[in-house]
Amino acid sequence: MTLIKTFHLNKTFKLKNLKIPAVEDLNIEINSNDFFALVGESGSGKSTFLRLLLRLTKPDKGRIVFKDMDIWQNSKENLKDFYHSIGVVFQDPYSSLNPRMKIHTIVEEPLKIHNNKYEKKEVKLRIIKTFNELGLNSELLKLYPHQLSGGQRQRVALARALILEPEILLADEPLSALDISLQASILNQLMEIRDKRKLAILMITHDLNIVRAVSTKIAVMHLGRIVEEALTREIFREPLHPYTKILLASIPGFHRREREKIPKISTEDKASWTLKGCRFYNRCSFRMKICQEKIPPLKSFNNRKVRCFLY
Ligand code: ADP
Ligand code: MG
Repeated sequence: MTLIKTFHLNKTFKLKNLKIPAVEDLNIEINSNDFFALVGESGSGKSTFLRLLLRLTKPDKGRIVFKDMDIWQNSKENLKDFYHSIGVVFQDPYSSLNPRMKIHTIVEEPLKIHNNKYEKKEVKLRIIKTFNELGLNSELLKLYPHQLSGGQRQRVALARALILEPEILLADEPLSALDISLQASILNQLMEIRDKRKLAILMITHDLNIVRAVSTKIAVMHLGRIVEEALTREIFREPLHPYTKILLASIPGFHRREREKIPKISTEDKASWTLKGCRFYNRCSFRMKICQEKIPPLKSFNNRKVRCFLY
């Protein structure tokens, strides 16, 4: 079943005399059995896409449909099913958990917001169940966020996102602030939860290594455009786009303490956003004359897509 589908989605930011088409003609389909990874370096438009999905930023053009609901054509009142069906988690558990609330209050909040229709007993059972799934000790419920470790905090953020038993988890760099062993253990738990609950996942990350073993599909985003999309095993068997090749070849650094923020535009990117043709032109070792003149279309073949004149 299709959960989320976008049609020609566009969002351009204007900074002085620079236009940044952070999301350009994005057509993405996420199904209920997908672990969909959206990957690309910082500044490629991944978080902007999520903000459009969450109705936090309004698209300039295009549509986003959740099941049969156009999320920008409906009022928030009409979107109860949508908000009930998604769980959201961001990179930075330090700022996403209210420091003045006890963990218990933080985790039960979504249940309260949604009509209060859950009985006390049900709330308790759900919290315990979710905590168990994430390997969290229920003793933590009495504490405040600052009394928890980074890994515990991100698990609490996940527990809150999963407490309503959503159909899809939308996660923006959820593991990027954690070290590699923590990343692996949280990913394992997420995979078990995904199996048990039939949970779809959209994971946004700059780190292909994180999603390598777990995702079913990968879409690679570069300066606002999807440049490649395929099954994860196909991407790793044979990356087609020169940018995907570079991403695969780069060894990811870990233990990043980068905070969730709007990325600064590098001088290199500044020049590339305004290119008439392919935005990867300046970095590409396979570039041809046509790449400078025309935007390469996203071509479909063999069940995969690539935006490059080489194919
Ligand atoms: P990513 O999540 O892939 O790192 P973002 O979606 O945060 O990328 O940003 C994509 C581009 O859009 C960047 O060049 C960024 O500077 C720009 N951008 C994002 N949000 C804003 C905003 N609110 N105002 C202006 N520019 C923005
Ligand atoms: Mg981001």
